[in-house]
Amino acid sequence: TNSYEEADPEVWQAIHQEEDRQQHNIELIASENIVSAGVRAAQGSVLTNKYSEGYPGHRYYGGNQYIDITEQLAIDRAKELFGAEAANVQPHSGSQANMAVYRALLDDGDTVLAMDLAAGGHLSHGAKISFSGQEYNFFHYGVDANGRLDYDAIMTQAKEVQPKLIVAGASAYSRIIDFAKFREIADAVGAMLMVDMAHIAGLVAGGVHPNPVPYADVVTTTTHKTLRGPRGGLILSKEKYIKAINSALFPGIQGGPLDHVIAAKAVALGEALRPEFKDYAQQIVRNMQAMDRGLTDGDSQLKLVSGGSDNHLVLVDVRPYGVTGRDVQNLLDSVMITTNSNQLPDETNGPFKTSGIRLGTAAVTTRGFDEDDCYKVGQLIVRAIAGREDGDALAAVAKEVRALTDAHPVDATINA
Ligand code: PLP
Repeated sequence: TNSYEEADPEVWQAIHQEEDRQQHNIELIASENIVSAGVRAAQGSVLTNKYSEGYPGHRYYGGNQYIDITEQLAIDRAKELFGAEAANVQPHSGSQANMAVYRALLDDGDTVLAMDLAAGGHLSHGAKISFSGQEYNFFHYGVDANGRLDYDAIMTQAKEVQPKLIVAGASAYSRIIDFAKFREIADAVGAMLMVDMAHIAGLVAGGVHPNPVPYADVVTTTTHKTLRGPRGGLILSKEKYIKAINSALFPGIQGGPLDHVIAAKAVALGEALRPEFKDYAQQIVRNMQAMDRGLTDGDSQLKLVSGGSDNHLVLVDVRPYGVTGRDVQNLLDSVMITTNSNQLPDETNGPFKTSGIRLGTAAVTTRGFDEDDCYKVGQLIVRAIAGREDGDALAAVAKEVRALTDAHPVDATINA
């Protein structure tokens, strides 16, 4: 232990326990990942000491010559990686990125059409309990009976509600999103198009999901999901919107940027520009498809929403076993598999208990799981649910989980 750990054992004990939890659990939360040692070092650096309100070259305080370098690197790398005309790397989170864009493009009360939370959308896409649903007039589209976006239905709805902005993007949708179709819909009703690619940004960067940037007026994302950077937000836009977006973010809704996090974003974006990142993104999808097979093979009664995955995640309907999503989340916690319960598009149990779990492969792929491992994880989940009343069966599953996490230690990856 270091002297600062001895000086504050309460905090450091919990941090080390969390480190151990990450080591020995199979992390399947679709919005999580494991960052590199370089990303963590930047985020833990002395840049946290600095105030730098403003943007590179235009700061309100002195001493920002090096902060300008790290922020400009992040901006340039974001633009290069996604082919964007302009970028703002300062949003503290994905929700704040979305808030800044709404404020830049909309007036209070304007009409917006976005994906329903229950169908896989995000809180910041107009949920009534979010600022977005309180300040703007949101209408929502869902998915069809097969769990897929129905672009004809969205076109019809857009013609009815005449939105000023259409939002595409989701937190729990396992299929490719057709951004060209969304552009067509936006153009048909004279709306602007914002794509929130938070979940799939790493897949876009790696070339395994179509890039929304050519189609959208503005693209927002988080940096900490498949993109494998620090927790935070990022906005990509056409040049003509960037001034309004910059001032909507600072001074509109944020003060000083998190310079240490922005430096870590620059490191992560640099990693995503390397050829190896393409292999990583491809492996995420292959692993998800293998896990889907593991979840449904044999006498499994689990059902996958839309029948499978084109990306890094899947929604699993657990109702055939007579359990709720929350039951399964708790059960899997007990065998060291970390998931989240999730509403399904045809939810019957309400948003707390839920009927489903959401699974993703971004984090396990980072620590070196391959298709065989992911198939096995799918089967272990089936075995745990089927054997939920049988202590010996659960102990056997936990043992196999331990063998998998021991075979793919986190340290070997993040220190590489
Ligand atoms: N947008 C989408 C599609 C998301 O899935 C999320 C996070 O789950 C966000 C935005 C919000 O990101 P944050 O949690 O950083 O506010």
